[in-house]
Amino acid sequence: KLYNQVQDLKGSIRVYCRVRPFLSGQSNYLSTVDHIEEGNITINTPSKHGKGWKSFSFNKVYGPSATQAEVFSDMQPLIRSVLDGYNVCIFAYGQTGSGKTYTMTGPRELTEKSQGVNYRALSDLFLIAEQRKDIFRYDVAVQMLEIYNEQNRAVGATALNDRSSRSHSCLTVHVQGKDLTSGTMYRGCMHLVDLAGSERVNKSEVTGDRLKEAQHINRSLSALGDVIASLAQKNPHVPYRNSKLTQLLQDSLGGQAKTLMFVHISPEPDAVGETISTLKFAERVA
Ligand code: ADP
Ligand code: MG
Repeated sequence: KLYNQVQDLKGSIRVYCRVRPFLSGQSNYLSTVDHIEEGNITINTPSKHGKGWKSFSFNKVYGPSATQAEVFSDMQPLIRSVLDGYNVCIFAYGQTGSGKTYTMTGPRELTEKSQGVNYRALSDLFLIAEQRKDIFRYDVAVQMLEIYNEQNRAVGATALNDRSSRSHSCLTVHVQGKDLTSGTMYRGCMHLVDLAGSERVNKSEVTGDRLKEAQHINRSLSALGDVIASLAQKNPHVPYRNSKLTQLLQDSLGGQAKTLMFVHISPEPDAVGETISTLKFAERVA
């Protein structure tokens, strides 16, 4: 009757990929995505010897026409398992402009249809809590956090938008459930993380604070990749302590926790370098 039977795809780590559509005015571009088939995505790669291809496979791949509702419905069982006492982490990864915030929050001009995972997850949890109110009592606490230059702090929702591409923003939901018949308590926690842009910056182009920011971002994203890759390989040593982000999430990554790495890519041919490096990051943690 509970959601314990959440389909365990590849152990506790799942990897999804979403391709952003071209934005208006870009209709004449040729996409860097050659084709998508089930969980496979094939990228056109530039090559000295003409055309090349590279394929990657993940648990799910969404093309540019996938809707917010479709994307959410595949994540729903994972999200609902928080009510049964599981810890869940969902990360949106990708270069700036690839659609991370669109997936997690939605576009700037939000409509009910375009609402992202954060809104849908919260309303779904409250809906299920309401449906179960005769058998369970749930207490839910929600917190927004921003991690900028490896420091951590609570922020308001508007401040989150400003530096969004250079900081990680995290919506955390703590759930405590009590089975009213047996008295059994369940505690679950979910982190929905819109990560800082993964693009490599050119050291010759940025200096000072921007370079420091970029180095912090690179360090924390590669530390996150290392942690998830060791969990995926069931490595006994998991290097949580290498960044603030992984330290903060340590209790919610590994053990019985469920993790979804959701990578985002841009379709433009001039982004192909970042696209390949995003897909390689994803392949490593899968
Ligand atoms: P990121 O957070 O990775 O920097 P955004 O989510 O801000 O990227 O997306 C960049 C732009 O593309 C925004 O204008 C956003 O609304 C638009 N966009 C991203 N993904 C989609 C999508 N799946 N469908 C329609 N528009 C999208
Ligand atoms: Mg963003």
